[in-house]
Amino acid sequence: MSDLFREQLQALRAQSLHRKLREIGTAQGPEVQIVGRQLVNFSSNDYLGLAADPILRQAAIAAIEEFGVGAGASRLISGTQSPHVTLESVLAKWKRAPAAICFSSGYAAAVGTLPALASKQDVVILDKLCHASLIDGARLSGATIRIFPHNHLGKLESHLDWARREHPQARVVVVTESVFSMDGDRAPLRELVDLKKRFQAHLLLDEAHAIGVVGPHGRGLAAELGLEAQIDVQLGTLSKSLGVSGGYICGSRSLVDWLINRARSFIFSTAPPPALAAAATAAIHFLASEEGEARRQTLWRRIVQLRRMLPAAREEFGKPGAAIIPWMVGDEQRALDLAHALQKEGFLVPAIRYPTVAKGAARLRLTVSASHSEAQITSLGEAIGRLAEQTKAAL
Ligand SMILES: *Cc1c(COP(=O)(O)O)cnc(C)c1O
Repeated sequence: MSDLFREQLQALRAQSLHRKLREIGTAQGPEVQIVGRQLVNFSSNDYLGLAADPILRQAAIAAIEEFGVGAGASRLISGTQSPHVTLESVLAKWKRAPAAICFSSGYAAAVGTLPALASKQDVVILDKLCHASLIDGARLSGATIRIFPHNHLGKLESHLDWARREHPQARVVVVTESVFSMDGDRAPLRELVDLKKRFQAHLLLDEAHAIGVVGPHGRGLAAELGLEAQIDVQLGTLSKSLGVSGGYICGSRSLVDWLINRARSFIFSTAPPPALAAAATAAIHFLASEEGEARRQTLWRRIVQLRRMLPAAREEFGKPGAAIIPWMVGDEQRALDLAHALQKEGFLVPAIRYPTVAKGAARLRLTVSASHSEAQITSLGEAIGRLAEQTKAAL
C-alpha cells in the first residue's frame, strides 16, 4: 500500500506536479517567516491586511472571553450563539440583501448550497474556470452539468437554449465568479444577468476575490454595477479580504430559510467558533467605515503601481481586475524555477500548477495587499523585470 503511494508520488514529481506544505512561523502580513527566513509575502488573499489587524484580534479576544472557544453543536441544535446572529444580520445589511447565512468555509457554502438549489432533474451551467468548490457542489447536486468556455457568452447562450428545449421543466442554475481566482479577470456580469433573465435561469455568483476589493466599500462586483438585486444567490468568503475564516450566502429570506433546512454542510457540521463570527463582524464594520474605504484605495494604488512596473508589452501579465496579477508561464517546471528565483530574492510568490489550473497553464500568481509598502512593490517589480528579461533571453 505505502509503496503504491510512493510510486504515485514519484510520478507527480517527474511531472513537476508534486506539492508540499510550507510552514509559516509568523502571523499573516506583508512579510512572513518561512524556514527561518523573512520573505515579502505576495501569495496571500489577505488583500486588506486584516488577518492580523488589532481590530479583528480585539474582537476575537473579547468574544473568546464572553463565549469561549468552541460552539459545541451544529447551528440547528444549540450552536447558534449571539455572534453568529449578529454576523448574519450585519452581513445582510452591508450587502443590502434581505438575508444572509454563514458556513464554516466558502468551500462548505458552495458544496452545501448547490445541491440545495438543484437536483437530478435540473441543469447547472458553469464557467470553465469556476473554483473547485463550485464544481464539487454542482457534482454533488446530481444535476446535469454543462461547462462553457471562460466568459464565453455565446456558448453560455447555446447551453441555456439547449437546457430550455431539452429540459423544459428543469431549474437552470448558471454559476460563475465575479473575479476569477487564478486569472484575476472579471465576468461580464451585466450580460450574464441579461442572459439568465431571458432564459429564466438562476444565477449563483461567487464573489470570493471581489469582496473587500471591488465595489463601494468592497461590496463586490455586483454592487459596483448596481446589480445586487438581480443576483439570485451571492456567495462569498470571510477568509480572504475579510481576514477571518468562513463562507456566506446572501439572498432572499426564503433562499436562506431553505438553506437552513437543506444545506447539508450547514446542518451536519459544528457551528464556526463564535470568536471568528465576532472577528468577521468587526471586519465588515471596518470595510463599511471611511477608514476601510481608505484602506481599499491604498490597495488599488499598490495594484496599479505593480502593474505599471511589469513589462507592459508582454501579454503573459494579465490586466488586473482585482488584487490578483497572474504571470502566465505555461510550463510547470519553469514556473517552479521562477518561484524559486523570486524566493532567493526574498519574495514569496507561489507557482500555481495543475490541478489548480489546467496542465501546461502554470503561472506565478502575484497577490497585492494594502499592507505592502510602496518600496516592497517596487523591489518586487524590479526583480520580476530582471527575471522576465532573463527568461526571454533563455527562450
Ligand atoms: C477561496 C475560494 C473559495 C473557498 O473559500 P474558503 O473560505 O477558502 O473555503 C470559493 N470560491 C472561490 C472562487 C475561492 O477563491
